[in-house]
Amino acid sequence: MTHSADPLRNPDSTHVEQPRQRGAIALIPNQCTSCMICVRECPVWCISLTAEKRHDPDAGPRGRSTLVLTDFSIDYGLCMDCGICIDACPTDALEWVAAPLPSASTEADLTLDTGRLADLRLTGSDNSHPLGELNQHR
Ligand code: SF4
Ligand code: SF4
Repeated sequence: MTHSADPLRNPDSTHVEQPRQRGAIALIPNQCTSCMICVRECPVWCISLTAEKRHDPDAGPRGRSTLVLTDFSIDYGLCMDCGICIDACPTDALEWVAAPLPSASTEADLTLDTGRLADLRLTGSDNSHPLGELNQHR
C-alpha cells in the first residue's frame, strides 16, 4: 500500500518542498477592514470572516460606526493558490509568505484561523527556510 507524500493528507510522511511551491497566504489582521472583497472574489469560497460593528460616540456629532474584524479563516483544503484574494485586497492585508502549511491530521485542521494565518508571517520571514528564496522574487 502506498501513502500520500502530502503532509496535509499524511502527517507522518516526509515532505520535500518543491522549488516552485508558492508557500502560503498570511493575514495581517490590523490591516483588514472586513470589506469582504476577498470573500466574494475567491472562486472556491474558502475564505470566511466575521466582523462586528462598533460605534465611536466621540467621532463627530453623530458618532461613527466601524467594522472590526473578529475572525478570519482560510480553508486550505479548498484553496487552490490562485492568489486572487491577494490581488483583490485593497489594503494589502493578505500576502504570500515563504512558509509551509502546518501538518493537518483532520479535515478541520486544514482551516487556519486569524491567529494561525498571522503566525505564518513569522515563519515566512525565515529566509533560511527552503522556500525563503521565494521572498526575493516577490
Ligand atoms: S488563493 Fe485563491 S482559492 Fe485560495 S483563498 Fe485566495 S482566492 Fe481563494
Ligand atoms: S479584501 Fe483585504 S481588507 Fe477586505 S476583508 Fe479581505 S483581507 Fe480584509
